[in-house]
Amino acid sequence: KHNLDGDEAVRSTNDDASHCKRFAVQLGYWTDPYLPLLVRSTERKTPEINRGYFARVIGITNIIEKFIKAMEGNCQIVNFGAGFDTLYWKLLDAGLSVKKFVEIDFANVTSRKCHYIRNNDKLIRGLHSDDEEIRYSTSELHSGVYHLAAADLRKLSEVESKLVECSMEYNVPTLFLFECVLVYMPIQFSHALLQLIADKFSTTFCINYEQVNMTDRFGDVMLSNLRSRGCSLAGVEACASLKSQEDRFILNGWDGARALEMNQVYHSLISPVEIQRIEKIEFLDEKELLDQLFHHYCICVAWKDSLDLKLNLLTI
Ligand code: SAM
Repeated sequence: KHNLDGDEAVRSTNDDASHCKRFAVQLGYWTDPYLPLLVRSTERKTPEINRGYFARVIGITNIIEKFIKAMEGNCQIVNFGAGFDTLYWKLLDAGLSVKKFVEIDFANVTSRKCHYIRNNDKLIRGLHSDDEEIRYSTSELHSGVYHLAAADLRKLSEVESKLVECSMEYNVPTLFLFECVLVYMPIQFSHALLQLIADKFSTTFCINYEQVNMTDRFGDVMLSNLRSRGCSLAGVEACASLKSQEDRFILNGWDGARALEMNQVYHSLISPVEIQRIEKIEFLDEKELLDQLFHHYCICVAWKDSLDLKLNLLTI
């Protein structure tokens, strides 16, 4: 019973993330014509939260775009715990198509997303398949490039069979994205998942966005806020430091990893012009609070680079 309640709370974190992104988009932090099609209502958030989401979304998107360009589109993307992410459609608009784009989440998240996509012309059009070529079920959608599939990431056999069902090719360079996902899983499960990826895919790049430096007082407060909403943060031990974020990959068969605090991401991976633009959107009263937040989130990238494609250079 407890586990079911905990899983429900974890699933609801998607609503939280989507509402935060939706509000930041509405204020003009970045452009996303697709998110309002999946998330109808808006809820006001503080300027620190909006800037935090801006750094998260733009930081991650910039790295993904670099990867696709470096691979000249001959690559696959898997978004684990994708929630209501709209990256697939935004990449299409940017002219960055890939061979395969797979999203996996719990069935009751994917079934809601599936329903919204199915009933929206703008989202369906992006799938570039005739309607008869799209296979739907209550919780899944499979088209030529885009696949939305349901699995519990703690169950490796489910994950593996979904990758096969989505016709993933193990020898094509593949990017895996975890955006605020692994922290909800006991560490032995996330280790096993990262090991599975490293075992199966010869050329792979991973982006993991989540909490870091959780061992200080600010970290304590962040964690108790999250826990008070009923979420189990079973994987939080990997969020102790940048080193522990990197080590989880090295331990599980990856060639290398580099974790950057969001402070670094903000100042090195996002263009100064963009930063100037968004810093004018809202007055930020508590600059220190934003610095603290940025110090407690990171992007960790990791690579397994059998073809020597210089994946280690993508965040430099
Ligand atoms: N990645 C999206 C984003 O950043 O907007 C959603 C993030 S939300 C904080 C976490 C997502 O991970 C939720 O959609 C949740 O359902 C999913 N998730 C967490 N644990 C999972 C598991 N064991 N299996 C499948 N999905 C999981």
